[in-house]
Amino acid sequence: MPPKPEHSHSRIRRPGFFQLKADQVLRRRFRVKMRKIRTERQAVAESVDCVVIGAGVVGLAVARALALQGREVLVLEAANAIGTETSSRNSEVIHAGIYYAQGSLKARLCVRGKDMLYAYCGERGIAHRRCGKLIVATSEQQRAKLDSIARHAAANGVHDMQWLSADEARALEPSLHCVAALLSPSTGIVDSHGLMLSLLGDVENHGGALALQSPVSGAECRPDGILVRAVDGTELLANTVVNAAGLHAPDLARRFVGLAPEHVPKAFYAKGNYFTLGGKAPFTHLIYPVPEAAGLGVHLTLDLGGQAKFGPDVQWVDGPGDLVVDPARGEAFYGEVRKYWPDLPDGSLSAGYAGIRPKISGPEDAAADFVIQGPQVHGIAGLVNLFGIESPGLTSSLAIGEHVAQLLKA
Ligand SMILES: Cc1cc2nc3c(=O)[nH]c(=O)nc-3n(C[C@H](O)[C@H](O)[C@H](O)COP(=O)(O)OP(=O)(O)OC[C@H]3O[C@@H](n4cnc5c(N)ncnc54)[C@H](O)[C@@H]3O)c2cc1C
Repeated sequence: MPPKPEHSHSRIRRPGFFQLKADQVLRRRFRVKMRKIRTERQAVAESVDCVVIGAGVVGLAVARALALQGREVLVLEAANAIGTETSSRNSEVIHAGIYYAQGSLKARLCVRGKDMLYAYCGERGIAHRRCGKLIVATSEQQRAKLDSIARHAAANGVHDMQWLSADEARALEPSLHCVAALLSPSTGIVDSHGLMLSLLGDVENHGGALALQSPVSGAECRPDGILVRAVDGTELLANTVVNAAGLHAPDLARRFVGLAPEHVPKAFYAKGNYFTLGGKAPFTHLIYPVPEAAGLGVHLTLDLGGQAKFGPDVQWVDGPGDLVVDPARGEAFYGEVRKYWPDLPDGSLSAGYAGIRPKISGPEDAAADFVIQGPQVHGIAGLVNLFGIESPGLTSSLAIGEHVAQLLKA
């Protein structure tokens, strides 16, 4: 689903923290119990139990998990709406947990997160569909890759994969070309915006608050807590700070005084461009080729309205700001897609949107796992940094929230 226009979040738009601080009525409405405290410099600062930096799907899921534990939570978001960065620029796929290295956080949190997400969407009426996906081998050489994918899946606890012959796959999807396929029945799609609104609702219903237009510039890790600084210089003392700033998390952590630099990974950015299909797709399952380096190949995903898109591809870029899709990249898509859908009509693809993967491994490196770094790693009480939360971060979001809340309890 293309990024939603900002007005889709107008229902939950809030003034920035520093406007909010000045507004007693709003503050009472948010029910965050803020206290004035004196910092070392004798300036008056506010204090709050937990600050979550970033209101993407992961920050909101973490905030929800902390709020459900009865903790007082304030989410600080730089933008003027929730979920405007990577959380609204992805494929909205509920991944089964097939590909990730056995025992990795990606594998464990994806498998757990998928179950939690289906249950949560069911309970809350969040739009989703367990449509299933086909991973297709389009040449004899790729058959062996399917085999290793099936073994990986089983090792990760994904036990519902089904081998399909070419005929069986075509019985499900008559337009598909393949020599064999794996069916993942537990893969699905979800309305990520609906999910984020629901997570925010839970945070607020448990006494938490969201402050928009509240960019954090850095923090100071001190014996009495973590002093969070906003871009305008205002300070807030917290017992717990969770850095869920997505693409910006490493840069931000580098500005945490007291956090040893060796705990902050180098950030890399891999843009994923999407091209949308004009007209109706002849598929009801998601269709994935066997994975390629740094991504899952140019796959076909469907949104809840049935619109098909292809992508994301992998384009390494220098920073997190370049979201323009170069229409010229579409040419390569035709070739890739026709390997599994030979009848893709000429001229049917148009440039869609792009998202940027918050990578912590470069083009030549092995894929990195999620890094969820708590006090046990860096020694700073109350601080958790989330680095490299690329795919399957959406699927894993509820499990990441649970994991962070447990880390902070330990
Ligand atoms: C192309 C692509 C496709 C993907 N497809 C899938 C998929 O199909 N399924 C899946 O499970 N996952 C997918 N993912 C991964 C998923 O989208 C991410 O893992 C997830 O959205 C990350 O959420 P987040 O909250 O960590 O980051 P974000 O959504 O980026 O949120 C971070 C927030 O922090 C805010 N922020 C940044 N700096 C500051 C600051 N200094 N102060 C205050 N706020 C700040 C930002 O404004 C932003 O709102 C995909 C990712 C990409 C790029």
